[in-house]
Amino acid sequence: MKTTQSNTTKNVVVIGAGPVGIAAAAHLIERGQTPIVLEKGHTVGSAMLEWGHVQLFSPWKYATDKAVIKLLEKQGWQHPDKEQLPKGRDIVEQYLQPAAQTPELQSVIKLGVEVTAISKENHSKHTSTDRDNADYFVHYRDSEGESQIIHADSIIDASGTWSAPNPIGLDGLPVPGEEDNSDSIAYGIPDVLNTARKDYAGKRTLVIGAGHSAINVALELLKLQGEEKATKILWGLRKNNLEKLLGGGINDELPARGELGIAAKRAIDSGALELLTGLNVKKIAKVESGLAISIIHEGMEQTIDVDRIVVATGFRPNLQMLREVRLDIDHIVEAPSILAPLIDPNHHSCGTVKPHGVEELTHHDKGFYIVGMKSYGRAPTFLMLTGYEQVRSIAAELAGDFDSARRVELVLPQTGVCSSKKSESATSCCGTEAVEESTSCCAPAKEAIPEELPSLSAGCCAPAANPQALSCCG
Ligand SMILES: Cc1cc2nc3c(=O)[nH]c(=O)nc-3n(C[C@H](O)[C@H](O)[C@H](O)COP(=O)(O)OP(=O)(O)OC[C@H]3O[C@@H](n4cnc5c(N)ncnc54)[C@H](O)[C@@H]3O)c2cc1C
Repeated sequence: MKTTQSNTTKNVVVIGAGPVGIAAAAHLIERGQTPIVLEKGHTVGSAMLEWGHVQLFSPWKYATDKAVIKLLEKQGWQHPDKEQLPKGRDIVEQYLQPAAQTPELQSVIKLGVEVTAISKENHSKHTSTDRDNADYFVHYRDSEGESQIIHADSIIDASGTWSAPNPIGLDGLPVPGEEDNSDSIAYGIPDVLNTARKDYAGKRTLVIGAGHSAINVALELLKLQGEEKATKILWGLRKNNLEKLLGGGINDELPARGELGIAAKRAIDSGALELLTGLNVKKIAKVESGLAISIIHEGMEQTIDVDRIVVATGFRPNLQMLREVRLDIDHIVEAPSILAPLIDPNHHSCGTVKPHGVEELTHHDKGFYIVGMKSYGRAPTFLMLTGYEQVRSIAAELAGDFDSARRVELVLPQTGVCSSKKSESATSCCGTEAVEESTSCCAPAKEAIPEELPSLSAGCCAPAANPQALSCCG
């Protein structure tokens, strides 16, 4: 028997208008719900625009959501070439911004609105009486900077993790001097060849991180070095995992990633890229010539001088704004506790998680969900397609279609080459140990790719002719 509860129209606040927040709104509208999307940026996809120069590793066909496509197609929109690899900016300009212009979505998206906290009306975290019937209070700062509150029946937090990068310290905290010198430190993937060029051209830069984001930055800096000879690049890996990063699994399964690795190796061998493995940064101080960085490198204390640092060591969720919500969050990964063991980077270096929905994303407070990149907590393996399935399921649940909410409607490629402690013989897909800095996505064994995803020869990380295409979220 179909378990459907009718007339359950909900006022749902969606936090963030990235690809997953926009998809959430489209699914809710399709289900007759009334979403309101609060986005702190001045455009939809504003986090993505910050890495707009980076080419995705997924082709277009894995970057768009069915419910959003339906709204777009009503306006005559045509899907970009499904096999092409878009850049972040392409996704925003050719998909998210047109979606936000559709009559259905335009009326529900509020830009320049930053959510600062979520609570339950007249209930602090420890107040249990009649808690499930209390509205959510969404505290936000409007575009004029005024603090406001709106009520909601349900909350979908799709605010991503881009605004909360991991700091430099191996203990997960900023090292002394890191915050004081933030004007000389960039987190993520700065566009060193274009918008951020003047900060890096002819300068000495230390890139920290062991993922493809870090390789990407290092290789872009090498290009800059080709044009501006005085540019110097040091690449610091906090773990001694270079061989895994540059070798075997990458080359076997992901030709384009292999090319990235080969290019990096060539640069290291020629001395163009100076490598510091096992790097432990202890302190950063401003000196006349730039930054003096006290490090332990291969057990020896030393100081290196650079002008700038790029930190590409992953991201973490902002849980501060959820302090008054009763979350069910894993203490290691900071993802919902049912989901966390499936994506824990201590055990998985790849996107081995099965498609999932409302069951895995439920918290103690009813009607509250974290989705998208933020739902993966500190794990770096999130895929947009997974997020689209999450919000499809949650929208069905909120509309009372409990069967559909529990039915998995997405088939992801099998990740046949993932490294897992359970399978000692498996090769890490991304060529990294399953560690905090592991690179994000995964390469399924070619034979394991299902019919539904015929041309995804490397699963979520479809190889590209252009090696720059393979920058991952790690
Ligand atoms: C460099 C890079 C490459 C990637 N490549 C791929 C790929 O090829 N394929 C793939 O499937 N995935 C990829 N990912 C992973 C992931 O799919 C993307 O990060 C995607 O953007 C996540 O979507 P999201 O909607 O969850 O979060 P985001 O895109 O980060 O969107 C969150 C939105 O919420 C807003 N926001 C944040 N805080 C607040 C607040 N307090 N109030 C209001 N608004 C707020 C932000 O401004 C932002 O617009 C990549 C990630 C990175 C970083």
